[in-house]
Amino acid sequence: MANDLAHAAKELGIKYFLISYVDLFGALRAKLVPAQAIGGMQKAGAGFAGFATWLDMSPADADLFAVPDAGSLIQLPWKPEVGWLASDLVMNDELVAQAPRNVLKSTMLGAESIGYQMKTGVECEFFLTTPDGAKISDASDNATKPCYDQSALMRRYEVIKEICDCMLTLGWGPYQNDHEDANGQFEMNWDFDDALVTADRHVFFKYMARSIAEKHGLRATFMPKPFIDLTGSGCHMHTSLWQGDTNLFEDEDGELGVSDLCYNFIGGLIHSADAMCAFTNPTVNSYKRINAPRTVSGATWAPNTVTYTGNNRTHMIRIPDAGRLELRLPDGAANPYLAPAAMLAAGLDGIQNQRDPGKRLDINMYTDGHKVRGAKKLPLNLLDALRALEKSNVLRNALGAPVVDGFLKLKHEEWNAYSRHLTQWERDNTLDI
Ligand code: ADP
Ligand code: MG
Ligand code: MG
Ligand code: MG
Ligand code: MG
Repeated sequence: MANDLAHAAKELGIKYFLISYVDLFGALRAKLVPAQAIGGMQKAGAGFAGFATWLDMSPADADLFAVPDAGSLIQLPWKPEVGWLASDLVMNDELVAQAPRNVLKSTMLGAESIGYQMKTGVECEFFLTTPDGAKISDASDNATKPCYDQSALMRRYEVIKEICDCMLTLGWGPYQNDHEDANGQFEMNWDFDDALVTADRHVFFKYMARSIAEKHGLRATFMPKPFIDLTGSGCHMHTSLWQGDTNLFEDEDGELGVSDLCYNFIGGLIHSADAMCAFTNPTVNSYKRINAPRTVSGATWAPNTVTYTGNNRTHMIRIPDAGRLELRLPDGAANPYLAPAAMLAAGLDGIQNQRDPGKRLDINMYTDGHKVRGAKKLPLNLLDALRALEKSNVLRNALGAPVVDGFLKLKHEEWNAYSRHLTQWERDNTLDI
């Protein structure tokens, strides 16, 4: 951890700093600052024109400043002369209320004030494709059930190993890498941590995977459903609430080893699931992953319904083990800060209102879901999720009106742009009507 970045630059041999932030759409923005200028920038921040990114600002607004969080410093393992920094956005000397990292921090502070610290672990699935993104990069990776395919994994050893080596260097505790359920799809896992640490790592992991894939002449994409017949890319979030060293979700006498507090948190996630989708599944494409028909591998591994279960991967929430829950809803487009913030907000509402999650379902939801009366479907498209978010007082009260309203405004514009787009499907199906 570096408190004085100018000093850290000398110690570590950093020549340039990337002062970065993530906007409401999850895009990573940065300025590249030479080490000799970092002293001033550490205090005042790097200047940006907020309107030029997705933050719901106006071109007439004052300068936006990204004030780097020195504790987030990551020296790029594949280019050690560059140091990456997450930052907090400030305008007119005030924290920007809709900036995603600020939103996560303030939601976590709210939780801490009532005694809860959130820890998370994320599973960022991704595809390795050709540079134009049109095809998977390995023509031989064509098995019908490609999950854990050793040969396909090892044909991409140079890329996967380089990313994993970086995580080892950074001390993230990586523990496994595999070929996932779609041709061309991979997953790399590292240890859970404080939710803000994980969110910063999530941002950096996406940048790192893309950069290293590019070095190898490939492209890494986290798009939720880049190939319609193949399993999509999820970003499952594992969560627990802690007080000091005590995991409050753990209870050896509780059903499946989790506490009443955890069941109330699950009740909250179920209560706000539709609205939460706007943040966990934030693109038009997200809805081609959830609610999807069976993929060629036999299962989508993505949820369709607002239901929970034990160690069973066909529901929205899985309790895989004692002391934690897994939300299987988020996908590769989820904003690394807003998704956990929304999850925490919904879960805390569940705790505060002692929301009952109902009985868990142990069935295969893909084949037997139709037999369950009253199992609520997830939103079928982005517009339904945005409308649910519009109505959610739980998320608005906890995350704040600026982020909810700004996000809704920009996402409605995106939905409208998508709706104006004429698709081949329409021509194929309505040209002769
Ligand atoms: P699976 O594929 O079975 O869903 P993975 O091993 O791919 O699980 O990912 C599990 C993630 O959950 C890892 O990031 C792991 O560190 C994290 N995790 C484990 N225990 C906890 C916990 N108590 N709280 C939050 N995250 C946890
Ligand atoms: Mg300029
Ligand atoms: Mg996994
Ligand atoms: Mg997976
Ligand atoms: Mg998982």
